[in-house]
Amino acid sequence: MLILQQQIEDAAELMQHAQRIAVLTGAGISTESGIPDFRSPGSRWQQHPPVSYHAFITDAQARQQYWQTRRDLSVQVSTACPNAAHYALAALENIQRLAGIITQNFDGLHQDAGHQPARVIELHGTARAAACTLCGKRSSMNELQMRIDAGEIDPCCTACGGYLKAATILFGQKVPDAALKQAKELASNCDLFLVIGSSLKVTPASTLPHLALRREVPLIIINLQPTSIDQLADVVIHHKAGEILPRIVARL
Ligand code: NAD
Repeated sequence: MLILQQQIEDAAELMQHAQRIAVLTGAGISTESGIPDFRSPGSRWQQHPPVSYHAFITDAQARQQYWQTRRDLSVQVSTACPNAAHYALAALENIQRLAGIITQNFDGLHQDAGHQPARVIELHGTARAAACTLCGKRSSMNELQMRIDAGEIDPCCTACGGYLKAATILFGQKVPDAALKQAKELASNCDLFLVIGSSLKVTPASTLPHLALRREVPLIIINLQPTSIDQLADVVIHHKAGEILPRIVARL
């Protein structure tokens, strides 16, 4: 307990001196909101590997598997509320210390916590909208979900006939250039980099802390399990973000 207290104080001390904090969040920040992550031990993802973009486009069975997996996830995402970690980051924005958030999450909970939308870069898109894989047209995810729930097996775009899916990035699908450019700029201009709830196993997000480290900017990691760059961080806290982050931000 004494060690944890010291880690919280060390993190707060570093953040006291920072004015442009960049935050990278992953699925772990939303587990306390009831949305499971993909890589924690025992996660559903380990039994049902995700459908790749290539499989989605080329294989009707893969699309059905995608919609089956989404059934539970959609309910979890649409009923989830921000938790104490999301609100602590919003408080960081309110005291004008936050340069921006780069999130790998598609759940929209950072925006729900009260951030200005422009401060949140969604690297992997959003599950709150649907997108056509052919013409790119965005549409309502609720309407698409209703079509699926009503029994439609392989929903297609009403404008061009392309396959529809959530406006998120599947494995093998490119992160949009504009979002990645913005994320790199944030990581290259911050004066502190904070990672929360990410295993840092997914590129290009996992490369972003290095842009900050290269400039000898302090790095803080809050993640339940160790990551491959823990040894490069100034402070590492292996604990629940919702319990730790509010205690750090309260000290600023
Ligand atoms: P990940 O699943 O690879 O890793 C999550 C990490 O969070 C794990 O290392 C785990 O130890 C940690 N963690 C879990 N609960 C935590 C908590 N309460 N506090 C602190 N740490 C906690 O997540 P990732 O690196 O973000 O990559 C997974 C991919 O899956 C991402 O691309 C993301 O798009 C997607 N995803 C998103 C959501 C969401 O939007 N909420 C949910 C699941 C998966």
